[in-house]
Amino acid sequence: MAVVFMETNDYMKELKIKFFATSLYKIFAIVSLIILSLQVLRAQDYPTVKAERGDGIYSILKRHNLSPGEYLNPFIELNKDKLGKNNSVFVGQSYRLPVAGTTGGSNEPAVSGDAAAKVSSAGGKMMTNSLYGDKYSRFSVVDNSLEGAVFYLVSGHGGPDPGAIGHLGKNLLCEDEYAYDVTLRLSRSLEEHGAKVYMIIQDKNDGIRDASILSPDKDEVCYPSSSIPRNQTMRLRQRTDAVNKLYVANKGRFQRLVIIHVDSRSKGENIDVFFYHDKQSNTGKKLAWNLQKTFKEKYDYYQPNRGYQGTVSMRNLYVLKYSYPAAVFIELGNINHTRDQQRFMIENNRQALANWLCDGLIKDFKNNK
Ligand SMILES: [Zn+2]
Repeated sequence: MAVVFMETNDYMKELKIKFFATSLYKIFAIVSLIILSLQVLRAQDYPTVKAERGDGIYSILKRHNLSPGEYLNPFIELNKDKLGKNNSVFVGQSYRLPVAGTTGGSNEPAVSGDAAAKVSSAGGKMMTNSLYGDKYSRFSVVDNSLEGAVFYLVSGHGGPDPGAIGHLGKNLLCEDEYAYDVTLRLSRSLEEHGAKVYMIIQDKNDGIRDASILSPDKDEVCYPSSSIPRNQTMRLRQRTDAVNKLYVANKGRFQRLVIIHVDSRSKGENIDVFFYHDKQSNTGKKLAWNLQKTFKEKYDYYQPNRGYQGTVSMRNLYVLKYSYPAAVFIELGNINHTRDQQRFMIENNRQALANWLCDGLIKDFKNNK
C-alpha cells in the first residue's frame, strides 16, 4: 500500500516536473515568438535607404517625399547610432526612414513664451499676454480645441523693412503693420482655443490696434528679441532659424508655421486670400487646403454673391523651403490696392480674417493631429 502510494507520489512529482518544464518551454517559445514578430514588425515599419555621395539627412528625406520639417527629428532618433558629427550621414551606410504619418506625440518639453495663465476664481482659465496691448492683453480660454498644438506666426517684413507701401492721402499704409495686426489677432484667437503660440516677429509697444491708420515704425524684433537686419537673405534666415530652434525644442508635438503678407501679386478685380506651400511638403499642402476650404465656406456663407477665387499653389520661397515645421504662406490681399486698403482699414475685417484663419487651423489640427 505504502509502496504503491510512494510510487504514485513519485510519479506525480515527476509528472509535475514534466508539466512545469513543458509549461516553461511553452512560455519561453511564446515569448521568443513575440519578440521575433516584434522585430519583424519593426523591420517592416522602417524602410531603409543607403546614403549616396553628397547626401545629408535633408536630401534623403526630400528624395523620399518626407518633409524635413516633420521628419528630421524622427530620422535622427531612428539612426542615432549611425550618424556622424553634426548629424552627418556616411556614404553607403543604411538608414531607417521614418514612416509618413508617424510624427506627433505627447512629449511636453519646457517651452517659453509671453503668455501667462492663471485659473480665475470662477474656474475659467484667464490668460494675459502683454504683446496684445492694454485693451486686449487679458482674455479667457474658450475651449481646448487646439490643446497640444504649437504655432509659429510670422508677419511679413518688419524692422527696417516696411514691405509694400500703400498711399492714402497723406498717410502711408505699410504692409508690415497691417500684417502684424492680423497676425497678433490670430495669435490671441489661437490662444483662446488652448494653443501654444510663438509670435516670431514682435513689437512690444504696438499691441492689437483698432485704429484704421496703423502708424508705421521700425522697432519690431525677431524672436526672442533680436533686431531685424536690413538685408533680405539675412532677415529671412533669422526668422527661419528662430522657428527651427523652437521646433527642435518642441520635438514630438503638432507644429505649424503660418506666414502672413499683404502684398499679393494678383491683378484681379477681387483681391482674394491666397495660400502657398512648399512643393516638398504634403502636410503644408493639406494645411493650405484646409485654410482655403474654410475661407470658401465663410465667403459662401457671409457673402454668397461675391465669388471667392482664392487658390492654393506651390511657391519657391525661402521660409517655406528651409523651415522645419509644415508651413503655409498667406497673401491676405494687397495694401497697394484701393479696395484692399478699405478692407484692411476696418478693424472688424482684420479681426474676421484672424478668426477665419483660426477656424481653418482648428480644422487642420482636427484632420491631421
Ligand atoms: Zn510682403
